[in-house]
Amino acid sequence: MKSFFDFTRMELAGHLGSIARATRLYHSVYRDRVTAIEHFDLALPSLVSCFESADGARRYLFQLADGEVVEGVLIPEKQRFTFCISSQVGCALACEFCLTGQLGLTRNLSAGEIVSQVLVQRAEIPSGGASRFSVVLMGMGEPLQNYENVLQAIQILADDHGLAVPLHRITLSTAGLMPGLERLSKESLFPNLSISLTGATNTIRDRLMPINRKYPIEDVVGFVRGLPVSRRKRVMFEYVMIKGVTDSAADAGRLSKLLGGLGTKMNLIPLNQSPDLNFERADHADILRFQQILLKAGVTTFIRKTRGDDVSGACGQLKKAGLSA
Ligand code: SAH
Repeated sequence: MKSFFDFTRMELAGHLGSIARATRLYHSVYRDRVTAIEHFDLALPSLVSCFESADGARRYLFQLADGEVVEGVLIPEKQRFTFCISSQVGCALACEFCLTGQLGLTRNLSAGEIVSQVLVQRAEIPSGGASRFSVVLMGMGEPLQNYENVLQAIQILADDHGLAVPLHRITLSTAGLMPGLERLSKESLFPNLSISLTGATNTIRDRLMPINRKYPIEDVVGFVRGLPVSRRKRVMFEYVMIKGVTDSAADAGRLSKLLGGLGTKMNLIPLNQSPDLNFERADHADILRFQQILLKAGVTTFIRKTRGDDVSGACGQLKKAGLSA
């Protein structure tokens, strides 16, 4: 039996021979939260653990039907909740500062497994008017290496008759895979895009994010430059602040040149440290200096609050800890 959560409404309509019936089922499952219907599997991943951090962020491990485990983070914010979800079991990109990278790739998640992580997190928050949420594909995996299933999941999440998550409330975070980016730029469904830069030169980015050897930083930034303004506005860069590696004033200057005039926002992420990583978080003063340089060059730059730090902060850390326990 295939999972209900794998189907777009139109695919469902194809199976049932009726759009109206598919729409009714979408309403029942995604809105009325019906948990059993005939002929379809509505099983959700199970939550194998939950760690609540002092700042309110909750980190989860979701166990999938085959026993594999992926991470998610539920982040309460002033106006809404943010659900951070995974797109793959592990990851093939092996970024040097990322713990998921150390796990390697086990497999892609199906569209249904991506959608159902949202449903499990939704069940954890109060229902009603205040329960609006955003979805970020920033957990384990590289979404653009699982292109079809991720796009299918976005289509399902965004369906007006289902969860109806607006596209501007869905963010796809990528290390900058050019073929996937080019393809995405031609889709009618275009989520917010978060591109992980981490490295201001090819020398340093080649080391930290080996994918840069294939898709260098200037190609990635060039891609953003070539987007129509309406889409460029939906792009953001992420840059992990690592002491002595990515935090120099010179690097901030290089980034300013690279990104100046793009109108694209920048998020500085203080490294989540771990005994398994040979890096340290940049000092706060250096992060502030870095931000100031970018701001002066006209690049709107935020410093990401590190959340859930006290409950195994870094990506992949929770899973690694769980596996070795
Ligand atoms: N593969 C995608 C999505 C998963 S990583 C991507 O690269 O964007 C999500 C974000 O977490 C990325 O911006 C990545 O640079 C960041 N990240 C990975 N390891 C981290 C760490 N140890 N500390 C802080 N941020 C980290």
